[in-house]
Amino acid sequence: MTTNPAYRGRFAPSPTGPLHFGSLVAALGSWLFARQAGGRWLVRIEDLDPPREVPGAAGRQLATLAAFGLVPDEAPWFQSARGEAYAAALDTLLASGDAFACHCSRSELEAAGGVHRRCLGGPRPGREPAIRLRVPEGRLAFHDRIQGEFTQDLGRDVGDVVLRRADGYWAYQLAVVVDDAAQGITDIVRGADLLDSTPRQIHLQRRLGLPTPTYAHLPLVRDADGRKLGKSLASLPVDDADPTPALRAAWGFLGQEARCLPASGPPARLLEAALRSFDARRITPEGNRAAVQG
Ligand code: GLU
Repeated sequence: MTTNPAYRGRFAPSPTGPLHFGSLVAALGSWLFARQAGGRWLVRIEDLDPPREVPGAAGRQLATLAAFGLVPDEAPWFQSARGEAYAAALDTLLASGDAFACHCSRSELEAAGGVHRRCLGGPRPGREPAIRLRVPEGRLAFHDRIQGEFTQDLGRDVGDVVLRRADGYWAYQLAVVVDDAAQGITDIVRGADLLDSTPRQIHLQRRLGLPTPTYAHLPLVRDADGRKLGKSLASLPVDDADPTPALRAAWGFLGQEARCLPASGPPARLLEAALRSFDARRITPEGNRAAVQG
């Protein structure tokens, strides 16, 4: 296998519970893209939101990845340790006027249609402001390697983006942009639930003078009726003790041919075979649901 130090990919789970099948698809997909390009594959634990975190979940997620043979090339990063970097980026944005303090409450915003275009009042005593990124009107388009062209009008449809919450926690949108750049990530492969977040991340990269990676948004694992996850294989935690069925199902969901993988054996052998025959062009925007339900 050739090596290509110019490719750096990552899998970035939030430690809100055990890895489920949908996260395995993102982990395997990002690993296959990176490894086939001869690049490096990293793992970043996005532990920014303590109220939503499950104690011990990060460790379990890393153990599950290892049980599946998905071992990162560098020590995992933890976003909980990255506050200084986020603060520095926020200072840059405040100094340039791209970011501003916002005292709007949730109910005020909801009354205004849920999209923040301007502040609805001034500072309120005793309440910390959120910090938001000002976004422009106009279309921002990018090309996704799986989903194709995607366009969004940030000013009209998204509104000014929270960078630091009023409760003091860092927002995902800021942290992901700062860390992808700091880790030198060149290619982002993740679930299509984040397609909608990508234009605001690209806008933020531009305001911070950071490079924009390439994007490939993997199909979302959905139930037969189109809901994101139900009580199906898709939502079940994957079994560290028996990786083969879930690996084979994730492979099939990514549109790859079942016959290319051995029916049993250690996950490392499955992954080797997977790398030999992985064809990114076979991944469809919706995924091959039959391979999961079968
Ligand atoms: N931590 C995010 C999640 O678990 C993913 C972030 C990303 O891949 O950009 O949904």
